[in-house]
Amino acid sequence: MSSPSKQDLLKTITSKDIKEICKNNGLKGYSSLNRDGLINFATENLNLSTPQIQSLVNHLQEAKLITKVKDSEDFLLRKVVNIESCEDELILATVDSLKVKIYNLGKDDFSYFCDGKCKDYIYRVKQEYSPFCKHYPAVIGELIYQEKIDLDEIHLNHLSGKKLEALMEIIEKRKKEDGLLVSDDRNIGNTLENLKHDLMEISCKNTALAREKYNEPPEKVFKTMVDDAFQLLEYETILNRRNEGWDLLLLGTYAPQPYIAVISTKPAHLGKINKPNLLNLKNFCLDMCRDQLMGAYKDAVKYMVLVAPDFPEDITSLVAEFQQLTGGIKLSFLPVSTLLYLVECYRENPILTHQSSEYLYKKDIITQEDVDEIFNISEKQIADLSSRARMVLRSKMEDICKRHSDACYIKMDEIYLQHIIEEVINTLKPHLLKQGLNDATGIKTFSLNHDYYLLWGRVLQDLVEEFSAILEEQSLSQVQRSPLKEDLIKYLDL
Ligand SMILES: [Zn+2]
Repeated sequence: MSSPSKQDLLKTITSKDIKEICKNNGLKGYSSLNRDGLINFATENLNLSTPQIQSLVNHLQEAKLITKVKDSEDFLLRKVVNIESCEDELILATVDSLKVKIYNLGKDDFSYFCDGKCKDYIYRVKQEYSPFCKHYPAVIGELIYQEKIDLDEIHLNHLSGKKLEALMEIIEKRKKEDGLLVSDDRNIGNTLENLKHDLMEISCKNTALAREKYNEPPEKVFKTMVDDAFQLLEYETILNRRNEGWDLLLLGTYAPQPYIAVISTKPAHLGKINKPNLLNLKNFCLDMCRDQLMGAYKDAVKYMVLVAPDFPEDITSLVAEFQQLTGGIKLSFLPVSTLLYLVECYRENPILTHQSSEYLYKKDIITQEDVDEIFNISEKQIADLSSRARMVLRSKMEDICKRHSDACYIKMDEIYLQHIIEEVINTLKPHLLKQGLNDATGIKTFSLNHDYYLLWGRVLQDLVEEFSAILEEQSLSQVQRSPLKEDLIKYLDL
């Protein structure tokens, strides 16, 4: 008696989901079946009770709805939701070019209407297969963001529990991007743990993991995780939330010659990607990026990086061809294992600069040895910076010591002190700070790079050491009488 209702339940989910349930339950021999055959096969062979299937189906449907809420992030962060009017009975809004009408929000006779080209609304919401399309949470999210509805007073239709949590996370992100909320904790530890644990699996398209933990398809999770990884390397990034084109732009802002790398992420089932289509990649770099920029920004687009679980060795043959196609953009390949190694090394020892890491994108397939190499380059860079700063400090101090020092003091006026500080600071440009001029006041300005805190620490420590060494040398060598001693000797007639 229970089999028809099992069948009804299975009909409400996709063939892909049914196959996954069969696989998880150790069944075999269903991969070539059409949809009806598959539903029959699963009904007959799954050793699960109707309530068990019901709960599996509920779980899958909930996961799909959370994915839809997450899909609304694109609209909210691009700020393309426009609330035209907001009354109790009717809310009018547009999302991109689509009109959305919501009737009686929070009440039993609630309904909503998504106009125009929304296929999801026409084929799924109207047919009652799904309670909403991604444009509904987008409008609700905008209303919450603009404080036009109060969540203490209204019970949102179809958006509760984890779906509401997902929506609130997006609103928080928007508030942070708009500077309305200060992020007090970047949660670096958590992000790093997730990367270490899941990045490789996600890059091999582990659908179940992507859905259960991240509520999104693996392709999207992979893109977001790669973005997270580069942010942990203290790069500013621009994430493309749409499904076409490049995935993110990496901004090497702190390099003396700032650069932009166009990143494309390629997850692959079997852990290794096939050769990509060079014309697509060329479009990502030129049509969809460089050609839309102006002036110096155009020249900054120098690199294209593919991130994938792994690459076939002969893929490097594409590098020269790509360079020719794009008029000089360097193509490189970053395996997930190298990216993880880079992030882990960096979080343990955050001494890389954008200038030193630029070396990576000049490689073909980027290896762990290359990562070791850029840490060496950075160490050398810090040593050079330090030694230059120390040398300037010493020469300025020695100058003044020769002329204005006695057994007690090294003496200088305010102007000379300022001069020393300025000369030392000059040696730290442009890596640790940038100097500018305030247009209105004509006063010099300094921008200190806080992401390089460890480099600052190392250089300043070396300077402290140098300074104290100079004082010690003076203390041991100066015997010239101080004015006080000079005066006392005079008064005492000695
Ligand atoms: Zn819609």
